[in-house]
Amino acid sequence: MSLEQEVARRRTFAIISHPDAGKTTLTEKLLLFAGAIQIAGSVKARKAARHATSDWMEIEKQRGISVASSVMQMEYRDCVVNLLDTPGHKDFSEDTYRVLTAVDAALMVIDAANGVEAQTLRLLEVCRARNTPIITFINKMDREVRAPLDLIDELERTLGMDVAPFTWPLGMGKDFAGVYELREDRMRVFRAGEDRISGDEEVLQGLDNPEIAGRYPMQFETAHAEIDLVRDAAPPFDEAEFLAGRQTPVFFGSAINNFGVKEVLDALVDLAPPPGGRPAIQRRVEPTEPKFSGVVFKIQANMDPSHRDRVAFLRVCSGHFERGMRMKVSRNGKDIRPNNVVTFLSQRRELLEEAYAGDIIGIPNHGTLQLGDTLTEGETLQFTGLPFFAPELFQGVEVRDPLKTKQLRAGLEQLGEEGAIQVFRPLAGGTLLLGAVGQLQFEVVIHRLKTEYGCDARLEGTRYTMARWVTCDDERELKRFIDANAHRIAYDAVNAPAFLATMRAELKVAEEKWEKIKFHAMREHA
Ligand code: GDP
Repeated sequence: MSLEQEVARRRTFAIISHPDAGKTTLTEKLLLFAGAIQIAGSVKARKAARHATSDWMEIEKQRGISVASSVMQMEYRDCVVNLLDTPGHKDFSEDTYRVLTAVDAALMVIDAANGVEAQTLRLLEVCRARNTPIITFINKMDREVRAPLDLIDELERTLGMDVAPFTWPLGMGKDFAGVYELREDRMRVFRAGEDRISGDEEVLQGLDNPEIAGRYPMQFETAHAEIDLVRDAAPPFDEAEFLAGRQTPVFFGSAINNFGVKEVLDALVDLAPPPGGRPAIQRRVEPTEPKFSGVVFKIQANMDPSHRDRVAFLRVCSGHFERGMRMKVSRNGKDIRPNNVVTFLSQRRELLEEAYAGDIIGIPNHGTLQLGDTLTEGETLQFTGLPFFAPELFQGVEVRDPLKTKQLRAGLEQLGEEGAIQVFRPLAGGTLLLGAVGQLQFEVVIHRLKTEYGCDARLEGTRYTMARWVTCDDERELKRFIDANAHRIAYDAVNAPAFLATMRAELKVAEEKWEKIKFHAMREHA
């Protein structure tokens, strides 16, 4: 197969949802339909086990899921599908933002009883900012849920997107009869199923098919009226609008019953885009360029506690990756030649032979690779767009046993590089500062410092509530600013200076006084 063909058959997407909407269940069913697993239950079982055994329920659950199944590759029809999981909890949203930079499309799962929830909205904003195309799956139709028109209306209003229903439900809860496929003009009859694909599915052709009205009189009457309305009022599917992230195709179903799942998988193959070009500081890079390039969007330390390894997740952006290949880290010009690069075949890690644009590869390393690093075959390139957000919560951190200071520093350095937390070193010295977007991040870090680095650390309150990275076109002006505000300056993990404030007014005063200095709430990997 040619490079062009390999790229054209790749689909790389993330699955996003508010917790409990059914992301884990759907993920598993996608794997089932793609033939990557035979019986559902493995992903769920792992999640349940974590749930039951851990005091750190929320943390372990989050970590557990993301560790166990953060990247999955499967083949479906003629396509190679890469599925990336995202942590559902809002306190880990930074991690999610970064994962979303590595995909070409997103699959949004909505609980039909709850509609659009807070976390869905936040994630969606990120997709919108990047014009990521989104496919929507409205789940749990086997329950008493909200009226479908109501859900569609809410989607449109809250997401600010056009909604193009591809299927329409007949009934719900115990009266759920199936979905009508609007484009194929046929009804797919619901049958409950759990762990396996049954194979025998029933379809009834045509809305005026007397069998539909005969077998499902109540559901049919309502659905018929709704379908007429939707056909009149909803915009037809428009590929360009979808690809620009302005219109989302919508599917109804029940993940736990394997119902409506195959349609979503087909939509991913038929509608979602193959990998596209990506901006780097130097130039735009096309996926079909023969030379390899890729970007690290996630680092996970100690994935396997018995090995204490650290895996950099890299999205291939162009060219062809082959095992044993030499790669250059653009940040420092160093060569690496890993021979243990892994791929993620439905949660098993396997040694990787080759990969193409859109694929995710895992490179075990001991700190050589950082978030945002670009790897190439030699060219100096730096892909842009990996965001770090200014923390909104701050805590000082100290070790209980001063002899463990070294472990604390080492642990924090690694956790900082992994992006689990942001670590700031005050220019004036003293206690290191931790910055987070969500409170749970602190708990995770303290917990991991103890379990992974043997370091008993303690958080201390701090008066800071805001940080802004500072830059200036004029180096000397920046130095003057830093000198004049030395007691409020701290350096982050990559030595970028940040201005710390205890309240918004302070920031405002500084902004007014130092006109040439730019204050940033977001930093991209430099
Ligand atoms: P996640 O937190 O988004 O990963 O959600 P899960 O996949 O763990 O699902 C949350 C709960 O909803 C679990 O108890 C699932 O069994 C249940 N669930 C998922 N899909 C369906 C569905 O289609 N129908 C019903 N009734 N329950 C579902």
